[in-house]
Amino acid sequence: MVDAAPVDPARRRGWAEVDLGALRHNAALLARTVAPAQLCAVVKANGYGHGSVAVARAALAGGARWLAVAVVEEGAELRDAGVDAPVLLLSEPPAGAMDEAVALGLTPTLYTAEGVEAASLAAARRETRTAVHVKVDTGMHRVGADPDGAVALALAVHGSARLSLGGFWTHLAVADEPAHDFTAEQLRRFDAVLGRLEAEGIEPGLVHAANSAGALAHPASRHGLVRCGIALYGHVPSAELAGLGPVAELRPSLTLKARVALVRELDAGERVSYGLRHRLERRGTVATVPLGYADGVTRRLWAQGAEVLVGGRRCPMAGLVTMDQLMVDCGPGAAAAPGDEVVLIGRQGNEEVRAEEWAARLDTITYEVLCAIGPRVPRVYVGEGDAHGSPADATDSHPSVAAGAARPR
Ligand SMILES: *Cc1c(COP(=O)(O)O)cnc(C)c1O
Repeated sequence: MVDAAPVDPARRRGWAEVDLGALRHNAALLARTVAPAQLCAVVKANGYGHGSVAVARAALAGGARWLAVAVVEEGAELRDAGVDAPVLLLSEPPAGAMDEAVALGLTPTLYTAEGVEAASLAAARRETRTAVHVKVDTGMHRVGADPDGAVALALAVHGSARLSLGGFWTHLAVADEPAHDFTAEQLRRFDAVLGRLEAEGIEPGLVHAANSAGALAHPASRHGLVRCGIALYGHVPSAELAGLGPVAELRPSLTLKARVALVRELDAGERVSYGLRHRLERRGTVATVPLGYADGVTRRLWAQGAEVLVGGRRCPMAGLVTMDQLMVDCGPGAAAAPGDEVVLIGRQGNEEVRAEEWAARLDTITYEVLCAIGPRVPRVYVGEGDAHGSPADATDSHPSVAAGAARPR
């Protein structure tokens, strides 16, 4: 991953530049904001498209104490890279993956009796004792045991020779909508279950409920640990939270770039891309950019009026985004040339296209925009994730590169 051999910059068609200094800064900001609660850096889905191992290292350097992933394979990638911090599995692993989870020293979340049984068997097979977190569903109804079931599971873990209760948690459904009263209701239900554990004499371990929105907007949800994803990457969870103090200090950490592959002058009336649906109103310079929907540049973006940055100017996409390439209308007499840098997400000169802008055009959330950046796009790391306060190396002279979803095993 981060240690992969650098790729010749001249061979890159498009790449995602990930600023480790920004990630480290965001982690430190979040850790400071929520203290004395601890920060868990959520690095599932290849670190929201940024590369999970590099993000994990930068977040730990910034002060995160825990990491979280969705599935065992993601935990294995971290362990293979030598990351030995505590890793929480946010979903209960299937019974068939429990042995690997225990062997890798991952912390399973459990919410079924079968899960408790599988974890206890896996620990017994390794002649070890494994800490687990039990999850209670307080109203989102995705995963988690209902309150009665969660108390019963906590009791079962408590009574097991092979398991210990390392944590007890829930997840908030509307923390990013500060006016919604259901967050308070979920936190009341959570407190009630915690009260029942206490009455049973069970120490819950690390208590946690907050995602980024909870951590930023609902201090009461912070408990002992907050699980931050989107804010760690430098993005506000929802527009409604944009006014919160720490949000202004978050730094987006990913820039999606490419180089112009081909340029041509086209006459007014010429049509561009599949379906010939984009018609040039006037003569202009059209540049072909070698990224497409297979790289996460959603096909719908053109119809939604998306723009990219070329030569420090916003230029509209021209015609449907194809699988591997898209076209851009640089306007009449533009100086665009093959090899010019194109910024699809991020800053160029005084202009910026934020992932939030794509999300608004696509009627989705920033999360989906970032996660969609495909495995074919190399991640190029700049800045220092582990040197104190070091700024990003914008010159990108010795970048390390990793293919996004490639696993080193
Ligand atoms: C993905 C996830 C998070 C992180 O959410 P953000 O909004 O990105 O901070 C936290 N907890 C759980 C259970 C998740 O699935």
